[in-house]
Amino acid sequence: MNAPASKADLDGIVLDKPMFDPKAYRLDDEQAGLITKARELAQANFAPRAAKWDREAIFPMENYKDMHKAGLLGISIPKANGGSGANYQTYSLAAAEIGRYCGATALTWNMHVCSTLWSGPLADDLDMDEQMRADHERRRAVHYKRILEDGAIYAQPFSEGGAAAAGGVAFGTEAKPVEGGWIVNGKKIFASLSGSADYYGVLCTETVEGEKASRRNTLYLAISAKSEGVSVVGDWDPLGMRGTVSRTLIFKDVFVPEDAALMPRGVYFQAAMRWPHMFMTLSPTYVGLAQASYDFTVKYLRGEIPGMPPVKRRMYPTKQIAVAQMQVKLEQIKNTWFQAVTEACANPSKEQVLRAYASQYTVMEGANELAALAIRTCGGQSMLKSLPLERIYRDSRCGALMLPWTAELCLDRIGREALYEAGEKDE
Ligand SMILES: Cc1cc2nc3c(=O)[nH]c(=O)nc-3n(C[C@H](O)[C@H](O)[C@H](O)COP(=O)(O)OP(=O)(O)OC[C@H]3O[C@@H](n4cnc5c(N)ncnc54)[C@H](O)[C@@H]3O)c2cc1C
Repeated sequence: MNAPASKADLDGIVLDKPMFDPKAYRLDDEQAGLITKARELAQANFAPRAAKWDREAIFPMENYKDMHKAGLLGISIPKANGGSGANYQTYSLAAAEIGRYCGATALTWNMHVCSTLWSGPLADDLDMDEQMRADHERRRAVHYKRILEDGAIYAQPFSEGGAAAAGGVAFGTEAKPVEGGWIVNGKKIFASLSGSADYYGVLCTETVEGEKASRRNTLYLAISAKSEGVSVVGDWDPLGMRGTVSRTLIFKDVFVPEDAALMPRGVYFQAAMRWPHMFMTLSPTYVGLAQASYDFTVKYLRGEIPGMPPVKRRMYPTKQIAVAQMQVKLEQIKNTWFQAVTEACANPSKEQVLRAYASQYTVMEGANELAALAIRTCGGQSMLKSLPLERIYRDSRCGALMLPWTAELCLDRIGREALYEAGEKDE
């Protein structure tokens, strides 16, 4: 299926420049086209709506309808299945452009796209025997068709509040094999898109009679939101990323058919070991937020914020220094991140993995540092709720908390893996 033209409402809008100029960053025309589509839609349609999702803590369903029409729900679905076939880098750059205008949309879109990126181009890099591969291709085609034709939305609830989402132990949510599928029981916390997704891409542990739970037996299942035994509980009133509506999901004796598998047995574990950049896909949203803080500050100091008196503040040396510091930080964030998402691949070198951790850390901490600097530089009037900066500040605070690559865990891993080779121990 060819994606229809972007439905961005561009009348009267002066479009922002791309965050990553295609020529300077050596992107081909096809990549540039997809990223431009995301940017235009986000600037024209998502930016004006962003305050509403945030204020009311509701899911941006209207944006998802737009993304479906524009073909963006299938951005990483392979072309052979009718999608746009975007690779990891292209997806990441498009997601950053969306994050620049609406953090909650970009973050939830990440959960959705990962269902297709992981089962698509990423799974194509992993080892499967012929039969397994054929079964996987047959099953994923069903998921992809739902997304492309019906606009089905997929969530990615992994977190359980224990060590599993950090990669430490097996998931507590269990899938007991039964005739034709599994019975799933468990709980997922912080399930973005809860109550709005059509399918929950759940990581759970397949139980094996007489064996202890093992991460090797992790299954990745797309559970229909309509299944009997699925419920959404608890409230959602957080500091930031309020439009993600990340409430708690309960699975109580939910029957899940075999065809719901987003990856064959053993393949998720293989992916986690061999394709570590799969855990970096939350970062693009925050690269976009970093750019948004900078863009806002420049416009504010030039007296160009719509709806504000055209007061210029750019002539003060202190403001100029602050903008210079912001530009330096933004370049550090963007360029270390661009390298990491460009080189993402199966079996990366140790240096590439360390760079991915460093880049994730730089983005997640840096986005909030930039937002804080933007507020300090622009001043009191800039943090009013009528302007986006205070929302960007709150949204950007959430990045460092996202498992499994929280800012703390990234530092933890860099320190350990830089000093120890695999298998090395001290006496
Ligand atoms: C806006 C938002 C949206 C989210 N959306 C989703 C989503 O869609 N899907 C999803 O799965 N999750 C989502 N999350 C959840 C997120 O990834 C975390 O799981 C969540 O923030 C809980 O983290 P915590 O800091 O409370 O973790 P904790 O419960 O404190 O940590 C989890 C466990 O990990 C282990 N651990 C933590 N730190 C270390 C360490 N340094 N070394 C070793 N082990 C460690 C510990 O055992 C700890 O008990 C979202 C979070 C936010 C803020």
